[in-house]
Amino acid sequence: MSEIITVNGPIKPEELGFTITHEHIFIDLTRQGPGRNRVLDDFELAYTELMYYKNAGGISLIDQTTGGLRGGIAEGALRDLRTNKHALEIREISRQTGLNIILGAGWYREPFYPPHLNRNSTNQIADDLINDIKIGIDGTDVKAGILGEIGSDTTWISPVEERVFRAVARAQLHTGLTIATHTGGLNVGIDQLDILEQEGVDLNRVIIGHAHSYNNHEYHLEIIKRGAYVQFDRLGTTNKFEHDTWIKLIFQIIDKGHIGHLLFSQDVCLRSDYVGYGGNGYAHILTKLKYELLDIGMTEDQFKQITVDNPRRALIGDK
Ligand SMILES: [Zn+2]
Repeated sequence: MSEIITVNGPIKPEELGFTITHEHIFIDLTRQGPGRNRVLDDFELAYTELMYYKNAGGISLIDQTTGGLRGGIAEGALRDLRTNKHALEIREISRQTGLNIILGAGWYREPFYPPHLNRNSTNQIADDLINDIKIGIDGTDVKAGILGEIGSDTTWISPVEERVFRAVARAQLHTGLTIATHTGGLNVGIDQLDILEQEGVDLNRVIIGHAHSYNNHEYHLEIIKRGAYVQFDRLGTTNKFEHDTWIKLIFQIIDKGHIGHLLFSQDVCLRSDYVGYGGNGYAHILTKLKYELLDIGMTEDQFKQITVDNPRRALIGDK
């Protein structure tokens, strides 16, 4: 790929700059259970939170809010997320903040799927995704710039999830976009790579999301050996045990010479992740984690490699 597709049109790869690779701006997670904490739908609040990131030096953000996360269940709870306004609002907030936003196409995981995924053929699902990429998401002219997050709900991949993975692979081969996944436990990322590889996807174009959710260095090495990216994307956690575990795993990967496969993000998806609600927000990696990592031995150059060079390489397919 010679360009990166943002919600406001293509940019040159060198314009990407510092990038958080797995975030959410407007999202409805109420299929997991009720509660306002699981809904991000306030434009002004989102603007304020994103500006902390922008003012700290953030340039770009990948919003991986795929189908099933864009609203539809919590009747009355959401402002405009039920309609195609989702993509238009992402474009508007990109304009207002000045951030490059790359928006994902795809489907999240089975409990979040609409019924038609069980009825459509794999190729029909793929065609709809190609439409989101070539024409625009949900009937708009806002084009998707990545396929993801594409998930499996648990430690195995369900039959309909497998069909979505195959459809995503076919859309990848047709459009050249990168695939980013959601994993929820154990080594299910390997099963995801198996399906994508069977369909002919170059695994260098795949990001295994939430790879930190299985705290196992051998698992991470296996993903890397297959050519894919290992994403640590809840790095804004306020849980000290998780934080310390993940930092150790990150340095193990670097020590083995695999820094080129690492990606960082915070996966802001709850109100409690917002700075305004006591969380660490979108800017945490830039304002706090960076200095902690430099203090314990990471170089400025390594930090730049993970947060600037690797996101660019992951999006354009540069090995
Ligand atoms: Zn996510």
